[in-house]
Amino acid sequence: MTQETILRDCPRMSLDDSFIFGCHASLDCFTKCCANVSIVLTPYDVLRLRAALQVDSSEFLDKYTLSPFTKEQKIPAVLLRMDPDTKRCPFLTEAGCTVYADRPWACRMYPLGVAEPRNASPADHAFHFLLREDLCHGHDSGKTQTVREWLVGQGIEEYEMMGASFRDLMLHDFWDKEEALPPEKMDMYYMACFDLDRFRRFVFETRFLKLFDVNEARVEAIRADDEELLEFAMQWLRFSLCGDRTMKVRPYVRRARQEQPPLGGSEGVL
Ligand code: SF4
Ligand code: SF4
Repeated sequence: MTQETILRDCPRMSLDDSFIFGCHASLDCFTKCCANVSIVLTPYDVLRLRAALQVDSSEFLDKYTLSPFTKEQKIPAVLLRMDPDTKRCPFLTEAGCTVYADRPWACRMYPLGVAEPRNASPADHAFHFLLREDLCHGHDSGKTQTVREWLVGQGIEEYEMMGASFRDLMLHDFWDKEEALPPEKMDMYYMACFDLDRFRRFVFETRFLKLFDVNEARVEAIRADDEELLEFAMQWLRFSLCGDRTMKVRPYVRRARQEQPPLGGSEGVL
């Protein structure tokens, strides 16, 4: 469904609206929704999945994801890579999802969707809607629950909280005026959002910390904690892509910048 169709055709649900739905292994549709499907991953989805699988973020991205790119896209998107032969999700077995505790946001939300119009008018704010697909028989029976109860039961709150900075970045005015990012900025975006182990090396193994003034406690936090690192990465993207004052440049760099053209290339942080 396109954003336009959703905004036009889908009944809008508030957090207190209710719906009937039940998903369990005895249904004849069990696991059918985990094949032939486009699941867009958020940065926090990638963080959780690769931590659960205990693999490096670059390895996770290579093995389990695709980043198709079309002319219409301004930035890369990351999708779960379905098995090329069976078209099934790589984490699916006959018994169900093997990464259930760390399953992506989109898998948790289903059958609910959320639409958030950009530049929304007061009458056109974010809302939830119900997805009804023929293959899914969970609508035929199950318990009545409100949207709010569903979100709580699926652990969405944590995903929303950890996704807030990415959401702010995506809704930034910067994207209104910018065409597709040039290749080096595309890579910066991809690395900071999705390839966190590479981003950590970028921070700790280049001149990054000589250019930016980051306090010691924060440096130790981002060294050890992926969630802290992801927050920091969003802050850095706001600075380096959108021009927001979310990072503090060291005084000697500021002085040098006044005398020289901006730095570029792989250190394209200023
Ligand atoms: S991650 Fe789990 S729930 Fe999501 S599509 Fe794959 S198997 Fe299904
Ligand atoms: S009820 Fe819907 S969500 Fe649950 S297994 Fe069946 S198709 Fe998937």
